[in-house]
Amino acid sequence: MEEHNSTKSVHAGELRHKPEHTLTTSIARTSTYTFRDTAEILVYMQEKAAGSPPYSRIEYGRYGNPTQAAAERKLAALEGGERALLFASGMAAVSTTLLALLSRGDHLIFGRDSFYQTREFVGTLLSRWGIETTLVENDRPEAFAAAIRPGTRAIFVECPSNPYLRVADIPRIVEIARANKLLTVVDSTFATPLNMRPLEFGADIVIHSATKYLAGHNDLLAGVAIGSSQILADVGGVRSLLGGIPGADEASLLIRGLKTLDLRVRRQNETGLRVAQFLEKQSAVERVWYPGLPGHPDYETARRLMSGFGGVVSFELKGDFDRAGRFVDSLQLPFIGPTLGGVESIILQPAALYSLDPFERKLGGMKDNLLRYSLGIEDADDLIADLQQALAQL
Ligand SMILES: *Cc1c(COP(=O)(O)O)cnc(C)c1O
Repeated sequence: MEEHNSTKSVHAGELRHKPEHTLTTSIARTSTYTFRDTAEILVYMQEKAAGSPPYSRIEYGRYGNPTQAAAERKLAALEGGERALLFASGMAAVSTTLLALLSRGDHLIFGRDSFYQTREFVGTLLSRWGIETTLVENDRPEAFAAAIRPGTRAIFVECPSNPYLRVADIPRIVEIARANKLLTVVDSTFATPLNMRPLEFGADIVIHSATKYLAGHNDLLAGVAIGSSQILADVGGVRSLLGGIPGADEASLLIRGLKTLDLRVRRQNETGLRVAQFLEKQSAVERVWYPGLPGHPDYETARRLMSGFGGVVSFELKGDFDRAGRFVDSLQLPFIGPTLGGVESIILQPAALYSLDPFERKLGGMKDNLLRYSLGIEDADDLIADLQQALAQL
């Protein structure tokens, strides 16, 4: 029987019967693992020489941890993948995965609208190591096809993207990738496995910043890559070398957060749509970017690929940088800051935080009047009333 998301988020991945009969998965707070005697080391070494990971035991904390493994199994079950690898942050998942897949001389095709530090990683570090990237528009599969050249190895696209919530046509991109023997990697942080499952469309690897919706409480950093055991074997090897693995405490908090993923994301989907619909009707608002609105350029694609549109609404306020800043300052409920997907609402004027970033300036910077609102799990009526009072003050 295929269980539903809410059941998986509570039960999947964790042992039913745990040591000491606890209900919750314990925190294995250990940096290393011990052997009873030398003979046990020799048996383990034989297993390692014969097989492929994961092995029946762990040798050292940089290779794994039982609490972290439970989180990985839960995430693999939710995303519908064979295996998941947990990382110390979303950026550790992105960078380690790309370093595992690509070699000097390879070429990467990359959806332009994306988390700015992923773009910075491919644009600065990968290029320094001889891996070139072509940026293409997320919504134009034909642009992905046109960018293919000898040496192209993979396509990386964020879906929905940050900050414009662009929804790439993943099935079409996968078709193009497969016809050209390329790998497709999707950063699906904004969707969560509840709103979209790129592996079902044929993507090879799905990445999340688990810092966001998956953990959901703004209290930890983590990342995850999910896919087939075969493709993740290399990524796991590189993770062991680079060391970007989270501790057991983070993994335990992540497991706790995942228990309510379905409840939180349903609520955030509902609030996201209501807030987007509210903002769309306001004369002070120039444009709303939310894939659940018919006015969003990728509305049709989003309806085809997604079962909910998430809790992030981006919008442009009429007026300049200062006016948008004043509006943010007069909101009472959201915190002001980066990140998204948690239980607390958070709003950000990206131009305020990132416009002086040298890499972003080179790319043309952010629109001054753009706001990204990550809706938490507060009451939607209260969030809308708060927007109303702030609009009235403009
Ligand atoms: C936040 C984010 C990342 C990076 O994740 P961290 O956990 O902050 O390292 C990557 N991709 C997307 C879409 C994000 O929102």
